[in-house]
Formats: sequence, C-alpha cells, structure tokens
Amino acid sequence: MSTSPSDALTLNAQYFDGRSAKARPVTLTLRGVTLVLRGESVAREDDIATLRVSEPMGAAPRLISYPDGAHCEVRDHAGLARMLRATGFRDDWVVRVQTRWRWALAAVAVTVAIVFAGYRWGLPAASEFIAFRMPDSVLAQLSGGTLEFLDKHLFKPSQLPEPRRKALADAFARMLTHDRSPLRYTLHFRDGVAVGANAMALPDGTIIITDQLVKIAAHDEEVLAVLAHELGHVSRRHGMRMLIQGSIVAFVVSWYIGDVSSIAAGLPTLLLQARYSREHELEADAFGAAMLTANGISPKRLADMLAKLEASHRAKVDESGKDKDHIPPQTESDKARRGSIGDYLASHPATRERIEALKKAQ
Ligand SMILES: [Zn+2]
Repeated sequence: MSTSPSDALTLNAQYFDGRSAKARPVTLTLRGVTLVLRGESVAREDDIATLRVSEPMGAAPRLISYPDGAHCEVRDHAGLARMLRATGFRDDWVVRVQTRWRWALAAVAVTVAIVFAGYRWGLPAASEFIAFRMPDSVLAQLSGGTLEFLDKHLFKPSQLPEPRRKALADAFARMLTHDRSPLRYTLHFRDGVAVGANAMALPDGTIIITDQLVKIAAHDEEVLAVLAHELGHVSRRHGMRMLIQGSIVAFVVSWYIGDVSSIAAGLPTLLLQARYSREHELEADAFGAAMLTANGISPKRLADMLAKLEASHRAKVDESGKDKDHIPPQTESDKARRGSIGDYLASHPATRERIEALKKAQ
C-alpha cells in the first residue's frame, strides 16, 4: 500500500519514538501543510514547518525528524521527493540539499590547500619580509644574548696565538671590501670545546669560528671560504627568517592551544633551533662562492672544507659511538647547545650535493 494512483502523497515509513529502539511501520500522508502519521498504536499530526528532512545520501533511508526527538525512516526516495515538492519545496532546493555534502568536502579541501600554501609559501615569504625590516637594534640584542649564552655554556676563550688570529681577521676584513651589505660584521674566535670544528653566524653579523676549525684548515683560504659561506647566511638573513618562521608557527600553535604566554619563554631556544633549509645552504654557498671568486680565491676551497668538516664530524661520531638516536640539530649553534657533537654537517645538510655544486662553480 505505497503510493496509490488516487493518493500519490502517501508513503510507507518506519517510525521511532525517540525513547525506544523499536521500529513501528506507519504511513505518512500530507494534508495541506500537515503531515499525518498513522500506524498501529501511534498517530500524530505535525505542521511540516516544524519537521526536518535529511538530505539524500545514496540509497540510505532519509530521515524526517520531529522536534520531540522522534523520527521516521523513509526508503521511498521518489515518493518523498514528490511529497516535498507538494509541500512547496522547489526542485532547486532539493538539488541544493543533495549537493550540500559535496560543498562541505570542497570547503574542507580548499581550507587544507590554503593552510598548506600558507605554510609552504606564505610563511617563508612573510618571514623574509619581516626579517629584512627588522631594526638593527633588535638584531644586535638577539645576537648579543645568544653569544653570551654560548660563551657561558659552551665555548672557552680561543687558544690560538694572537698573531694567528690577527692574520685571519685581517684577511677577513680584506675579503669584506667586496661586500656591499650594510651590515657590520665582527669576527670572534673561540675554543669550541665539545662543539669541535664549527662556524656560526648570528643575525647582526657576528661570526664565530672555533680554534678547531682553524686547525683542520690546510690553508687560510679554507677558513675564509667558511667565513664567506657564513656571510651568505647573514646577508640573506637566514637565521632571522628561520627564527621568525618558528615564532609564527609557535604563536599560532600556542594560540590554538590557548597558551600564548609559553611562547615568550621559548624564544631564546627558538633562535638556537632555527633550521637552515637545503635552499638556504645552497644560497649561502652561492653567495660564498661569488665572494671568494671576487677575491681571487677558488670556490673549491669551500668544497674542500666541507669534506674536511664531514670527516671531522664522522670521526667524532665514531669516537663517541653514541650517535644512533641523534636527531640532526637545527643550526650551527643548536648542536653547540647540545654540547655533544660538533656535527657541522647535520646542520649543513646535503653536503655531497653542495660539494658537487661548488666544484662546478669554479
Ligand atoms: Zn650554512
């Protein structure tokens, strides 16, 4: 007794009263704007304006929900569609309802794409924009604090003889005559202790090299090559960009979690954890290679030095033998903070690729 020719607006349905799981077979009839429900031991009449009809999802039954928690399951999709039309619902309303879930999926996909694009491209672009507009006073304050931290926890005063330091500082100053950057660079020598052979650049142009790095260099030009690379990081503001990027992510995450205060406490650590990307390393290499060439020095010096730093890193790892669960540190200064291994290479990834590129640059 589904729809009869004389009464096209009668449907079979299953009725659930909202209190028990028992399904009761009923018929639904439309009388004006009233939905009339009849079944064994159940009868109700409701204004259709108070009812909600679920959208169609494949062959699943559609639900007519009553305000008191009861509902009907209707499997006769065609009959229900006819009934909806008879109540004044227009066809396009039905179509819109049918496609609503597609819009929801599309909205989710668009949101994911925007967040991804923002993270992948928007964030680095914003960080670069801010980094190049950062006042010198902020750069100096941040860098000063970081050097203080490093001196307190990791480094010792350089053991290199004064004339040796002076010779390298003079050569560095001569190399800088080819640099057009407005930043003032200062060179610092330190005993790297556990950090070993390493070099690092702070955002304000402070560059630190360890005695150990000077010692593994076979030629002063190799030291200059590493310094030229570090100048590239400063000049392109890599450290600052990574710091800003990390801060933005940390801020968004803490804002989402609802604990923004924790980010201020974590800011110094963020600088030490800022990671140079592969792109940053290649960019710093290219900058260094150009500066070396301008000074009549072969970029191969940097390639040679990278190989030596890799060897020195490996020797240290073998010696300590406890590097298995070692997570590659983030910056030159990060593993310094860890104080275990002077793994220049972990902070300077893709060494092999970089050496090859430098050999081609000469
Ligand atoms: Zn680097």
